[in-house]
Amino acid sequence: MTGESMKNELQLKVKQKYVKDYKNGYPLISKESIINSKDLTNEGTVIKLVDERNQFIGKGYYGKQNKGLGWLLSFDQNEEIGPRFFKDKIQTAIDTRGALYHNLDTTAFRVFNGEGDGIGGLIIDYYDGYYVISWYSEGIYQFKDYIIDALTKVVEFKGIYQKKRFDAKGQYIEEDDFVTGEKGEFPIIVKENGVHFAIYLNDGAMVGVFLDQREVRKLIRDKYAYGKRVLNTFSYTGAFSVFAAIGGAVKTTSVDLANRSLQKTKEQFSINNIDPSTQDIIVEDVFHYFKYAVKKNLLFDMVILDPPSFARSKKHTFSAEKDYKDLLKEAITITEDNGIIVASTNCSSFGMNKFKTFIDIAFKELGGQYKLMEEYSLPEDYKTNKHFKEGNYLKVVFIKKLKA
Ligand code: SAH
Repeated sequence: MTGESMKNELQLKVKQKYVKDYKNGYPLISKESIINSKDLTNEGTVIKLVDERNQFIGKGYYGKQNKGLGWLLSFDQNEEIGPRFFKDKIQTAIDTRGALYHNLDTTAFRVFNGEGDGIGGLIIDYYDGYYVISWYSEGIYQFKDYIIDALTKVVEFKGIYQKKRFDAKGQYIEEDDFVTGEKGEFPIIVKENGVHFAIYLNDGAMVGVFLDQREVRKLIRDKYAYGKRVLNTFSYTGAFSVFAAIGGAVKTTSVDLANRSLQKTKEQFSINNIDPSTQDIIVEDVFHYFKYAVKKNLLFDMVILDPPSFARSKKHTFSAEKDYKDLLKEAITITEDNGIIVASTNCSSFGMNKFKTFIDIAFKELGGQYKLMEEYSLPEDYKTNKHFKEGNYLKVVFIKKLKA
């Protein structure tokens, strides 16, 4: 270890009752667990956690993110948090995605998933030769030279882009996201199980698709969509609708509040050789649309619910934890008997069991019957850390509405 890096390490003392959690592998450093958190001044500082008797627990970095002060990176006292550390982690992550790199039908996936791959606060996604690094704190961004250098040595690439997601509110910082290599001509067209997506790496925090739903989209196309009238709510660029249409849905209806969703959804259909005018694409608040559908006696064979964890529109605040049950009731009301509701949430504040109680209560309150058909969580490339349950955020349930 160099004298330089030793000097920069800051010792943080952990309150006794939290020591066990960290020793067991819990990676997120919480404010309440640290006695001397006041000593933290510069994000990116390497920190050494010790117990009250100064026994070493682990090493990490200071970087404020959501509820945390930073992430543990190593339980080895002698490991230096330097170039070699980052290169090893990135190399290992790339190696475990070998099957996806070789899959010609899928050219977009996650290559580095934060704490699941050993570095909380760092995400790297792959889009057909282009890499996008997402920095979730000022602290992890301080290691950018090591990380970008490691990535450029470990992989071949066309270009690298980045998203800084760490302004005062943890939001995306708008700027030119290009880092190195060749600039892309957007949209670049990637493939997912043979279906095309238009991707924009230079146009804000969201690039056009959420890669964590890959398995769900495939299942909808291959097993559920054929001959169905499909309603896709909170549809964004219509990724679920495109898969449903390709799977033989008689019609898809996509509903999203954002103006951009109309053009983006048309584009996704077009690049898959589906005439957008054969599908319904509606820019509207989903909660208004439900009322409209009830008034017009519209019924669907499949309703997809994929709301954000929290959203505020002009008249409505939606919080998954408080309001998912009511959202389900709206969906159940306009689903045909024996129809399917795909209920999805990325809310990390509750788990699958609680999500299922929302489903159960929603049906009970309507006097309805249902059957759970399938359950999904994150795909393999979204590697999780088994000591950090919150990181395993995705919950998707396919529910059949039975005849009452
Ligand atoms: N299901 C999408 C991802 C959803 S992202 C997919 O598979 O790609 C969340 C989307 O919800 C955003 O596009 C946002 O514009 C939309 N949204 C948020 N509140 C909404 C509301 N009240 N009504 C309709 N859309 C809403």
